[in-house]
This record gives sequence, C-alpha cells and structure tokens, in this order.
Amino acid sequence: METEDIERTLASGGFRLTGPRRTLVEVMQGLGDHFVADEVVEASPKVGRATVFRTLRLLQDVGIVCQVVLDDGTAAYRLASGGHHHHLVCSECGAVSDFASGDIEGLLDDIARRTGYRVDAHRLEVYGVCPACRAREIIAS
Ligand SMILES: [Zn+2]
Ligand SMILES: [Zn+2]
Ligand SMILES: [Zn+2]
Repeated sequence: METEDIERTLASGGFRLTGPRRTLVEVMQGLGDHFVADEVVEASPKVGRATVFRTLRLLQDVGIVCQVVLDDGTAAYRLASGGHHHHLVCSECGAVSDFASGDIEGLLDDIARRTGYRVDAHRLEVYGVCPACRAREIIAS
C-alpha cells in the first residue's frame, strides 16, 4: 500500500498520518513483505515501543496492516493490499502473498447459518511451496 493510500484510509477513519505514524509506515514499507513488531521497534529508534504497538493496532483496525501467522506460529504483520483477503505462506522461502475467494466467504456464510453463529471475523492461512521455490526444486532435481 502506497503512503498516499494509507493517508486516505486513515483519514476516512478520522485519523491523521502524524509524524510518528508516517515514520512507522515508511519503516514497514522498507521491511519487506512481512515483519514482526520487534523489527519495527528496532528500525525506528526515535519512536517509543508503546507508540509502535499502538500504531500497529490502529493500522490493523483500519485495515492498513493485516496479521499473518507464519508456519512456525509466529504472528507477523504485513501491509494489506486492499480489502478482505487470505494469505498463502511459502514454507521454503517464507514469502507471503494474498488471495481472495468468494467461494470461501460463501462457505462461511453457510456455516454461520448452520451453526447459528454470528460470525465477526475469520482468518485463513494456506501453507505450501510458492511457484518460485517449486521452479527451483524442479531445476535442482
Ligand atoms: Zn494480508
Ligand atoms: Zn517460496
Ligand atoms: Zn475470508
């Protein structure tokens, strides 16, 4: 997500891209496709730890940052690509990519109807080997 889009998304939630928030967003953009909170803390020595965590929470609430559970159980963060989506996580190189599926959402509506649950949220991570790593494996074998 570009800084402009981040600023617009924050504004639509009634929030401003303050100096510290801008610093943290720029740090996150430089950290690659996912990062843990401590990496953000380390990379932004001028911003206090509590501010980093508060900002991550805020960015998550407005949909700028999403959480992804890596295959070792680590909870990482990632700048979201847009609306509701799920993650594909490569067990070889650790790359994370996004996908969306209307079928999955429909299935969950169905489960909500059958169980009587009011479903508030869900998360789905799919673990496997990404196309780049598969290509490397084929060449190596
Ligand atoms: Zn995501
Ligand atoms: Zn991979
Ligand atoms: Zn979904």
